[in-house]
Amino acid sequence: MRGPEPVTGRFAPSPSGRMHLGNLWSCLLAWLGARSTGGRVVLRLEDLDPDRCRQSFCEQVMRDLEWLGLDWDGAPVYQSRRTGLYARAFSRLEEQGLAYPCFCSRAQRLAAGAPHRGDRADSCLCRGLSPEERARLLRERRPAWRLQVPDRTFSLQDLVQGHYEENLARDCGDFILRRSDGVYAYQLAVVVDDAEMGVTQVVRGNDLLSSAPRQNYLQDLLGLPRPRYAHIPLLLAADGRRLAKRDRDQELSALQARFTAPELVGRLACLAGLLPAPEPIRPVQLLPLFSWGKLPREDIRVGAW
Ligand code: GLU
Repeated sequence: MRGPEPVTGRFAPSPSGRMHLGNLWSCLLAWLGARSTGGRVVLRLEDLDPDRCRQSFCEQVMRDLEWLGLDWDGAPVYQSRRTGLYARAFSRLEEQGLAYPCFCSRAQRLAAGAPHRGDRADSCLCRGLSPEERARLLRERRPAWRLQVPDRTFSLQDLVQGHYEENLARDCGDFILRRSDGVYAYQLAVVVDDAEMGVTQVVRGNDLLSSAPRQNYLQDLLGLPRPRYAHIPLLLAADGRRLAKRDRDQELSALQARFTAPELVGRLACLAGLLPAPEPIRPVQLLPLFSWGKLPREDIRVGAW
């Protein structure tokens, strides 16, 4: 019997601190999703935000992945070193007449640029500015740049969440491509990088499901292929909150004090429906047990481990 076509998956952590349980969960499932097909895994450090990311965190992320038993192919890719690629993609969108300067407040722009911070674009009036008004404002300050979205529905078949669709004009609005400080937005960088790195399967938290239609639109405009998506349930704290960096007990340094890597992998595998009960296991031993169909769709409360 022939297995599934080999896919190329990726780890795409943001090196803004130590990894926590949620990051490990995403990386383990990305690795299983790709390796179970005999495919490749590439590593990209999403370090575009100079205020939040440090080289030392990048190195720590790689040590942590190795500790867990997750390997990758080729050299790690740093987004901070690929600005030229994003600039070229941005110019292509500008040439299509679809990018426009936005002079809204910095707070709004930052919110729109981050993948996890309620990043629905607010309705912004800058699209309707007259050429004279735009020219005047451009002389006064550095704008962010937004992408004009169409009144069109984008739908996809997610490997975990099933059918998902969104009308970009109604449900999202024009979104940020580049911040006023010149930093390219997550949405643009991720699309350029996934294509350039040959990624065919994107595994990430379900909070990014609503980014997929925006990314599909960008892929269409830039003539890039669409990867398959698997948006996995989020791991929540006992009270239902999303795990965050401030949940120190779920940070890898704290987890390492209590668990060996096989113990941690076994617990995550149990949450993923791959094991009936947590037992120490290595990622390679999970390969024959892995299938997307076993994964729950709903977010998971993990409580105190
Ligand atoms: N860098 C993002 C994170 O650490 C992931 C983005 C993605 O997978 O598209 O959550």
